[in-house]
Amino acid sequence: MLALPAFQVMLKPRGAICNLDCSYCYFLSKARLYPDSAFRMSEAVLENFTRQYIAAQTAPEVMFAWQGGEPTLMGFDFFRRAVELQQKYVKPGTRVANTLQTNATTLDDAWCEFFRAHDFLLGVSLDGPRAQHDAYRVDPRGAPTFDRVRRGIELLERHRVEFNILTTVHAANAASPLAVYRFLRDEIGARFIQFIPIVERDNATGFQEGARVTARSVTGKQYGDFLIAIFDEWVRRDVGRVFVQIFDVALGVWLGQRAALCVFAETCGDALALEHNGDLFACDHFVEPRFKLGNLADTPLAALVGSAPQRKFGADKRDTLPRACRECSVRFICNGGCPKDRLRVTRDGEPGLNYLCDGFKAFFAHIDRPMKMMAELIRREHPPAEIVFVLAREQAALEQEIARAGRNDPCPCGSGKKFKQCHGSHR
Ligand code: SF4
Ligand code: SF4
Repeated sequence: MLALPAFQVMLKPRGAICNLDCSYCYFLSKARLYPDSAFRMSEAVLENFTRQYIAAQTAPEVMFAWQGGEPTLMGFDFFRRAVELQQKYVKPGTRVANTLQTNATTLDDAWCEFFRAHDFLLGVSLDGPRAQHDAYRVDPRGAPTFDRVRRGIELLERHRVEFNILTTVHAANAASPLAVYRFLRDEIGARFIQFIPIVERDNATGFQEGARVTARSVTGKQYGDFLIAIFDEWVRRDVGRVFVQIFDVALGVWLGQRAALCVFAETCGDALALEHNGDLFACDHFVEPRFKLGNLADTPLAALVGSAPQRKFGADKRDTLPRACRECSVRFICNGGCPKDRLRVTRDGEPGLNYLCDGFKAFFAHIDRPMKMMAELIRREHPPAEIVFVLAREQAALEQEIARAGRNDPCPCGSGKKFKQCHGSHR
């Protein structure tokens, strides 16, 4: 039998059940797949999965990624048992780690003590300052959740539980990148941040079908501008202090490594999703009947992960790229993005272009030079954070040249325009 690639499974112990009702949530509608279910992972499913998952992994660390819905709604005893089972089946020389994505509104001292005691890394969903966050992150009565999330974060800090922030980028916060970033950095004290674009299909099924998106979705241009604005601030002052997932992943690729995020990898298929009843799906974003691989009670996990349909699902990401992507100058990092967002046609009429293409192209072109500079620093065994000083020196030199430039000189910034039409236009 062929060795399986390293793979991860997102675990949905309560399926799509959540105490909130965020308007853009792609998962709440999945409850319709199980009309009579109580949405609680049984101990039998938990143990069966834990045993097989640990046995199938070859890496020294086995990661359990708990998601929802809201996974803490399973209650304490479930997670206590999950940790016991992990210890029962862990192989010598292997470490088990847990991550848990939460809206943070259910947390209390007892949860935090548990997370701290068992080294859970939490991901907290927070979309920026109050107005941007509350635009879509509401409870079932439509009430805002910002204060409850902040209380949850304060508890995590008090108990010294490690957490990162997951911020979705959508119509309500895309226009305020620096307000969002500075809030997370300065008021929340976040050191690890993910910016996830909302591209939400506008259909009745909740599946990845149809080409219309909701008004809550971010456009490609907005997403690109959002990332560029934050990158420009980050690269001039925060490298080495604040870790923004997409910047880190990009740096790895500029260093010649494989993208550490499925969205930008050449192929996918190694990030699956397990529903509460043992049904395994190709990906968290494709929990749909046609992407169901089988159930753990009937087929071993390794067979499902290595199955032909799942390998095809992963390879299709590369094999269905339109020509525009295959010939694109930033394909080496973009790889066409996530298949769930490939709902546009190219200029030549080919399907499969990413809805966010304009943003990806602009962002990856924009960061090319600083990424090359940081990659070079790392190759010379310098910390990449030195770029902050290099760029500050460049900026100071540019300002001196600008101060000396004559109206009809070429602009010192290198735009190719006359000074009077560029940086000198305000003189
Ligand atoms: S479909 Fe998208 S989210 Fe799922 S594994 Fe592939 S790239 Fe990742
Ligand atoms: S930037 Fe656009 S054209 Fe280039 S690889 Fe990405 S999605 Fe394809």
